[in-house]
Order: sequence, then C-alpha cells, then structure tokens
Amino acid sequence: MTAELIFVGTELLLGDILNTNAQYLSRRLSALGISVLHQCVIGDNPERLEEALKTALSRSDLVLTTGGLGPTKDDLTKETAAAVCKKRLVRHEESLDAMRAYFSDKGVAMPKSNEKQADLPEGALVFPNSNGTAPGCAMETDGKWVLLLPGPPREMKAMFELAAVPFLRRFSDGVIVSHSVRTFGIGESAMAERVSDLLDLKNPTVAPYAKNGEALLRVTAKAENEAAAEALIAPVLHEIKDRLCDVIYGVDVSSLEEAAVALLKEKALTVATAESATAGLIAKRLTDIPGASDVFHCGIVSYSNEIKMRLLGVARETLQTQTAVCADTAEQMAFGALRQSGADLAVSVTGLAGPGKDELGRDAGLAFLALTDGVSVWTRKVQTGHTEDDCRDYNRTVFASNALHLIYQYAAAFPEKPAGGEPLKTPVSLCPKERIE
Ligand code: AMP
Ligand code: MG
Repeated sequence: MTAELIFVGTELLLGDILNTNAQYLSRRLSALGISVLHQCVIGDNPERLEEALKTALSRSDLVLTTGGLGPTKDDLTKETAAAVCKKRLVRHEESLDAMRAYFSDKGVAMPKSNEKQADLPEGALVFPNSNGTAPGCAMETDGKWVLLLPGPPREMKAMFELAAVPFLRRFSDGVIVSHSVRTFGIGESAMAERVSDLLDLKNPTVAPYAKNGEALLRVTAKAENEAAAEALIAPVLHEIKDRLCDVIYGVDVSSLEEAAVALLKEKALTVATAESATAGLIAKRLTDIPGASDVFHCGIVSYSNEIKMRLLGVARETLQTQTAVCADTAEQMAFGALRQSGADLAVSVTGLAGPGKDELGRDAGLAFLALTDGVSVWTRKVQTGHTEDDCRDYNRTVFASNALHLIYQYAAAFPEKPAGGEPLKTPVSLCPKERIE
C-alpha cells in the first residue's frame, strides 16, 4: 500500500505556517505500515489541486489531503476532490446536526456559510470532527482511496486518530516499530562510525541523525505485529547500547531534561541554577518536565557582572583578570547558587552566545559550565563552532544541554538510595575537576 500526501493552503506555500501536518501524518502512516512515497503542498487553487490529485491517484493507492475544508470561498478541497473522483456533493444531515450542536454549545448562532461544510461526496465514509466543524471523509475511486482531513492540526490529529486510523488499518501490511537512542557528547559521524556495520542492516534499519547538538540513532523494524518487530530490534539495540554505553543517556526519552529530572527524582536530589548566557533556559527546560518541583530548587539569572558578584559572590578580581567567561567564574557562580539556595547541587553557565567575538577575540559558541555539590566541583568547556549571525539560539540550546547533561551525569553516578533509608550524601565518583581546557 503506497500513500501520497497533499497539503492545501496558500499560507503554507508562503511560509507563513509551518507544515506540521506533514511530519505528523508521515510519522503516523509509517507506524501503521503504510509507505508514504510523495508529499506536496498546493495553494488554494482548484486547477493546481485537481492536477495534483490526478497525479497522486495515477501512482499511489491512497491519497490524503489536509486543509481547504473550511467554510470560506477559498476552501475548495472537497469540491475539487469530489469532481476528480466523479462524485456529487450531497448534504449530510448528521454532520449538519453535529455542527449546529457545536455552535449551540458555544452559545453562538451558526453562520449560514458553515452549512456547506456538511455537503460531502456521495457514498463517502464520513469522519466526524470532534474539535471543530468541518467533517472529513474517505471516498473510493477506481479501487483507490482519497481521504480529506481538515487543516488545523488539533482537528486533523483528533480526526486522524479517532476515525482515519481505524479505517486505514485494513490497508496496513504490518506495523513499523522504532526506538530512538539518544546520545550526548559525541558528534553524529563519530557515533555513526562506532556502529557503522549496523547501518547496513535491512530490518531493522539503523539510521543516525543530528538534532540540536545531539546525535541520535533510530532503530526501525517492520513486521507482522508489534511483538515480532520488537524481537527483531532487541539484539540490535543491545549491541548499540554496548558500543555506545559511555554516551547514551536514554532510549525513547524525549530530552536531556526528562532524563535528568527522572534521575534527580530517583536519587532524591535537588538542583539550583546560576545562568548567564542561557538566561533561564536551563531552569525553563527543567521545569518543562511535569513534577519538576520535586527536584528544582531555584534559578538565578545573573546576567550582569554586578549581580554575579553581589548575589553569587564571584570575585571582582576573577572578572577583571579573566572576564566573566572563564572556568573560575563558572565555578564561583555554581558555589554561589548552592549557597543561596541550599539545594543539593548547583549548575552554572557563562558563555558567549554570539554572534561575533568577545573583547579577547574569542569566538561565539564558547561557554564554561560548572556543577558543584559543595564538596567537589566539575567544570566543562564547550565550543560549539557556531559563530554565524543567527547562532544565538543554537549556542544557548547547546550550552543548556551541556548543563543538563552535567546534572544527568552527576545524578547517574550518585549512589542509589538505600531501601527505606535516607539518601547517601557522599561525593559521587565522577573524575574530580573534569577541566577540559
Ligand atoms: P483550512 O482547513 O485550510 O481552513 O486550514 C485552517 C488553518 O489550519 C490554517 O490557517 C493553518 O493555520 C492550519 N493549517 C492548515 N494546513 C496546515 C498544515 N499542513 N500544517 C499545519 N497547520 C496547517
Ligand atoms: Mg485553507
């Protein structure tokens, strides 16, 4: 079964709206064992949409569209698709009733123009819209199927999951299962080299990719059912974990912050942050995770040197002789945050988000981080290599990721809490003063 996706909307062509429906549907169809071979974006133009639909139907078994189901004049997907499939549009009373109920629930009168959304291709299977007004549908034409879904992602996703997925299961020839192995502190190519023989496997496939300064491996298997796919993946995943054990921080975790918060919770540790270049990003990412209040103590955004001295106790001499961007400043910031907060750990970042160079001629992308538990301190130097005009976002993300990774490493090395007892507050056995300069 091959599928093709058509995304309708001039706003997508103009770049006003990111085509998130493409990512969502591609992922989900692939997980259902349906191969997506083409995707295209078409403006709100019936002639070009007709051409795209005809081309799609000439080479694919299944065509899915999103967008253009609205009540306004430029929403013409249904009319165009019905004409291509040689179907009449007929009023679907159930959909009209559902729409009336939707409006009366909101306490507003239904505009007359919405009525046309209840006109659907004759004989089509109707997909109700649980988050909006426009129903979707599936219609058959010459043994092929065209599925029309609404554009707004909230409506599209709900309709896809509740109505389209049960319908599509009949076409799926197996399931696709994937697991994502996340690493930190190694580049994509260095990671790929360590598993290069596995990259040639056919089922499961192993694919490396880079995302926001992290390197990931996706292991994907196709099989009759989920258990069979998992059985194909298990030995390969085992091998990958063995070879990359020093850099893996999780499998199927969504982020470093998720992994860090989970470990902090498990080890009953609390953390505080002192941030300069990242200005709160580490705190934000930690608190993106539900339940972070158990582990996150406080965040200090110490952007100016004045505050670094006054609030965190960074020595004036350090700032004057080495600038704010140095390992000693990072260490003193971490100690200051620990003192101010009373947390178990504190992590700090000071760096050059960019663009350009600092007064010493050092490139953007340089940062120093420190983590302390009051007994030991670990520092890390980061150089992202990104200095271009729009590097700020990337650099700050990578600086914050390194801080989260330090937290993760510390918590991973921290002794397990003894059953029923208080957690051990002994120093962890990371190599002390991991100073990379
Ligand atoms: P429509 O169904 O064409 O009226 O779409 C309504 C709105 O849904 C658009 O203005 C967009 O904000 C959003 N939308 C449409 N298509 C997409 C898409 N492919 N990805 C993300 N959002 C979309
Ligand atoms: Mg539209």
